Amino acid sequence: MTGRTLRVAALYPERLNIYADRGNLLVLQRRCAWRGIAMELVPVSLGDRLDPDAHDLLYLGGGQDRDQRLCAEDLVATKRDAVHAHAARGGAILAVCGGYQLLGHRYALGPDEALPGVGLLDVSTDRGDARLIGNVAIEVRLPRPGGDGAPMEPRVLAGFENHGGRTVLGPDQQPLGRVLEGHGNTGTSGHEGARSGNVVGTYLHGPLLPKNAWFADWLVAAALDVDPDALGPLDDTLEDGAHRSARRAAGLPAG
Ligand code: GLN
Repeated sequence: MTGRTLRVAALYPERLNIYADRGNLLVLQRRCAWRGIAMELVPVSLGDRLDPDAHDLLYLGGGQDRDQRLCAEDLVATKRDAVHAHAARGGAILAVCGGYQLLGHRYALGPDEALPGVGLLDVSTDRGDARLIGNVAIEVRLPRPGGDGAPMEPRVLAGFENHGGRTVLGPDQQPLGRVLEGHGNTGTSGHEGARSGNVVGTYLHGPLLPKNAWFADWLVAAALDVDPDALGPLDDTLEDGAHRSARRAAGLPAG
């Protein structure tokens, strides 16, 4: 993979970075560096223009409601079309928790206030009474990047969730995965997250990628449109240990 560059834009990194979601970017950086892939990381903040052709991967972390409010208005006002154009040409997006909610149609904070979303994922979120908190594990079946998109073997994503929002999927919107342990989108639907092509929204913090290195590789492969196997193996002894411990924390066998 030497000679390739992964171009990443982090949207609102100073505001959407709860639970050290920035750790996800560090994982991408390190795994790329170990493979000779350069990674360009561009912060795109309030008021900044987002170039729809300049990035392979957009990243949005989670945020408190007050930060989300500022970002929601800005995202819809200044970046909505670019986010859609990026996704339409196959660009990858990882959006965690608050960021996930902003990719949907809206996040209703109460009867009188709803934050707008960009409507890239067919999901809508309402704030519930209690927060859904705890370790979570889901089973996902992702398409293989870089080819015909045939489904890969089912894999487990393990992480941590803490959200007041309940996210409901539209009739044709596929979830990211099936809840094995934890709450997921609503606490009762059995679904976690949402995915359309290379656009992924999820409630899993953790941060997500340090606990699921295989998924970091899927994202890099999807963003570069190559088969994940073409990235080449790494010594994942520590990463596999982190994954096993996150699975155990969620109540699954270590696997
Ligand atoms: N503020 C949102 C909620 O509570 C998102 C929280 C988060 O990103 N952890 O649902």
